[in-house]
Amino acid sequence: MSYRILASYFLLLTLAATAVAVDAPPKLKVLIIDGQNNHAWQSTTPVMKKALESCGRFTVDVATSPPSKKDMSTFKPNFAAYDVVLSNYNGDPFSAETRQALLDYVKNGGGFVVVHAADNAFGDWKEFNEMIGLGGWGGRNEKSGPYVYFKDGKQVVDTSKGHGGGHGPQHPFEIIVRDTEHPITKGMPTNWMHDKDELYTHLRGPAQNMKILATALAPKNLGGRDFDEPMLIVLDYGRGHVFHTPMGHADYSMKCSGFITSLQRGTEWAATGKVTLPIPEDFPKADAPTSRGL
Ligand code: ZN
Repeated sequence: MSYRILASYFLLLTLAATAVAVDAPPKLKVLIIDGQNNHAWQSTTPVMKKALESCGRFTVDVATSPPSKKDMSTFKPNFAAYDVVLSNYNGDPFSAETRQALLDYVKNGGGFVVVHAADNAFGDWKEFNEMIGLGGWGGRNEKSGPYVYFKDGKQVVDTSKGHGGGHGPQHPFEIIVRDTEHPITKGMPTNWMHDKDELYTHLRGPAQNMKILATALAPKNLGGRDFDEPMLIVLDYGRGHVFHTPMGHADYSMKCSGFITSLQRGTEWAATGKVTLPIPEDFPKADAPTSRGL
């Protein structure tokens, strides 16, 4: 390469770098909480961290709790220092101080994201269940609130008795977008194939200030009830926004480009109330899942 070409090249690089510096909005600060889960949080947290950081919109820190049965009073993440908190936690109760700090944080406008078994946590913590809308297991039953699902294209709020939470064998399943105008789902194909995952059924909870953006059919022969179960959920809690997805059983489920995109857009929305991130070229179509090598 001649000196002149090299000099032009560096000039272009400098201009490009300047343009990025001027145009890019400040990165959103995400805190992932983990440390206890009946799932492999050690392998799923890094996938979500990479999924968020790879789009350039987020910086991600991780707060890991003490192991189960240890002193939880030392687990005091500084939620207020972040734009959004993502829970990959399903374990022992937080201390009263940390419970209150999380509630205050979301009530005052902090974003909250709940992934898969994080909605199994804290079955008897009333305010947490109001934040996440629906949950499973953890002693949940009709006292926790109704089952909510879609049937024949319409949302059903079902107060019948029974346990919360269920799933059949893992398999790829089709996601159907029910709200095409919400910032998270706007522009998303209305039908797309999610890669191998557990399809949660029988979720129930307070379900207040909640909107189901997308569902997946859980057929009876695969542990379901022939109902369309909620898969992308949003809520308002105080001044805060909450994004909840029951998808994400394992690292391979999270490498689905549909999951990654939903997580990125859902996290951005929870943090800001808006979505600027595009639907990528590799977003899955209805016929087959697409996954990324994260
Ligand atoms: Zn699972």
